[in-house]
Amino acid sequence: MIIGLDDTDSRDGMCTTYLLAVLIEKLKAFGSLKDYPLLIRLNPNIKYKTRGNAALAMELELKDRNDSQKVMEIVIKTVDKMAVFSEENTNPGIVFIENPTPDLKNDLSAFSLRAVQDVLEIREAKELLIRHEISHKGYKNERGLIGALAAAGFSLCGLPDHTYELIAYREQKKCGSLREINPATVWSADAATRPDTWDTVDIDNKRIVFAPHSPDPILFGIRGKNEDAVRIAFSIIKSEPVERYIVYRTNQNTDMHLINAKIQEVKNDRSYILSGSISKSPRTITGGHIIFGLSEDGAYIECAAFEPTKGFRRIIRELMKGDEITVFGSVKADTLNLEKIRVNRLNMTQLRNPVCCEKRMKSMGKRQGYRCEKCGTIKKEQAIEKLSRNISEGFYEVPPSARRHLSKPLIRFP
Ligand code: ATP
Repeated sequence: MIIGLDDTDSRDGMCTTYLLAVLIEKLKAFGSLKDYPLLIRLNPNIKYKTRGNAALAMELELKDRNDSQKVMEIVIKTVDKMAVFSEENTNPGIVFIENPTPDLKNDLSAFSLRAVQDVLEIREAKELLIRHEISHKGYKNERGLIGALAAAGFSLCGLPDHTYELIAYREQKKCGSLREINPATVWSADAATRPDTWDTVDIDNKRIVFAPHSPDPILFGIRGKNEDAVRIAFSIIKSEPVERYIVYRTNQNTDMHLINAKIQEVKNDRSYILSGSISKSPRTITGGHIIFGLSEDGAYIECAAFEPTKGFRRIIRELMKGDEITVFGSVKADTLNLEKIRVNRLNMTQLRNPVCCEKRMKSMGKRQGYRCEKCGTIKKEQAIEKLSRNISEGFYEVPPSARRHLSKPLIRFP
């Protein structure tokens, strides 16, 4: 039985991953997990999300098929008890898939990918659930059924690329208080396991970034390429007592949200890989954000490196008109929020007024040529001059402290 779950949490506590962790414990008596539980990040631009738009799924190998009704009751009871129904934006969804047909697999592989890359209607999830006679329970406006079905879909169909995250949970009584984690052991854990783990610390900004600051039950999460790596890092970290921990398989850090597209095809609230040349030079706006314009075949989009991307903005400031680049990021309010860039070809030349008698010649007006003020020499055209650049071709990314869950770090690139 595949169980999918979403939208049980609020900003002031709880977290759907914790609910799944509790369920894993409760359901042990009925069978074992067939594989890792899944932590799926859905479209990061969905306005209904509480934090990271996470949805969860697990596949339970039942010892006795007759127990399936009992298992469903336990899951529903646990959600009834733990979900934060008082929060307006919390609309839990639970999905149970048993005896999947090839037809269902087909439908779900498309639906699940759309939940990561596109914006879905609650109606679309309900139609699939009814057409395939999938047991489910939706609460309030039932929006959680979208994420629950998408996560269950990935459990059924598999992930094209994946990483792992070990999430350690706090004791209930500690939730809301400051997290006690020994910083030196976190840096040691990172040093001992990187590049097989990443985003535990932000080296350039000298910050530990693997622990949230919210009152939820998560103590910290260690991301890595396999279970061994995250477990080794975990064994090195000293902290307040860990109530429980789970190793999830996840689509985090895979770039699954990115759609390869042309600038003219871009829609708000989706995420893209776009290529073009810089048509408007980078400029800094209030708040320290940097904006530039990218064009391709007459289509134009503004791209932004926001203040939290810190040192990444130094690179963006070095870009110039005429540079050919590929950008990776989410589009909101007609602006692409940069997650990383690849500089494909730097513009190494620029047109400038010619030099004569050790000074730049003066323009005599539009298409009138250039004149040396000292000796009177006249030249018709501007001169092509070689530029010296403080940036090289290649990839650049935001620091770990600004990384979005789905964004693939360069450490994972071959
Ligand atoms: P947390 O990270 O703390 O678990 P969250 O950020 O995952 O919280 P949710 O509380 O799960 O946020 O809220 C997101 C809601 O948006 C869910 O109801 C989910 O079903 C829905 N949703 C997710 N992806 C899409 C999508 N692509 N289109 C429409 N709705 C979506």
